[in-house]
Amino acid sequence: MVLARVARCAHPLIARRAAQSARVFVFCCSGWTVAALTDVVMAQPDAQAAPSALPALVDYRWLHAHPELSGQERETSRYLERRLRSLGARVQRVGGHGLLATLTGAAAPNGPTVMYRVDMDALPIHERTGVPYASRKPGVMHACGHDLHMAIGLEVVRRLSTTRRTWSGTLMFVAQPAEETGEGAYEILADPTWARALGAVSKPT
Ligand SMILES: [Zn+2]
Repeated sequence: MVLARVARCAHPLIARRAAQSARVFVFCCSGWTVAALTDVVMAQPDAQAAPSALPALVDYRWLHAHPELSGQERETSRYLERRLRSLGARVQRVGGHGLLATLTGAAAPNGPTVMYRVDMDALPIHERTGVPYASRKPGVMHACGHDLHMAIGLEVVRRLSTTRRTWSGTLMFVAQPAEETGEGAYEILADPTWARALGAVSKPT
């Protein structure tokens, strides 16, 4: 996953920084991630179809239609925050437009902490796909898959939220701005909110 992302970044400095930041974060590859991906991708061939009852598809299409460049993810951040709060997560701003959301399982008082990170920014590319949910911003497009990453991440949180009585531990969901420039990860690391959140993580018992 990281290698695929880095391979799309032509600039060697960006690739190196992406690799450095990737070491900081823990990726979660669960069955639910695959299921959430399936929800989004399987519905894609019929671009004219209504989003129906698939929340991940609704999220994906909104995010795809509203791309924002690195460091300018204001609307994206607001959208994610609203969705995360509606799912019962505690949300904090971190690293500019970044977000740190936590969701705790209710099956037992203690448990492991798992971090799941998505990226938020789009690219300076003009979209010519013609799909109904194409970018509404000339010259800006989610062409690197960050819209898909965010939609899948929200779906993972949604599924964990609806089943929180069955699991224990804490999910730390991180939305990272400015991935394409490599700066967002550093902004998050420099934010005292981030240090406080990590310091509060208790060891699993
Ligand atoms: Zn990217």
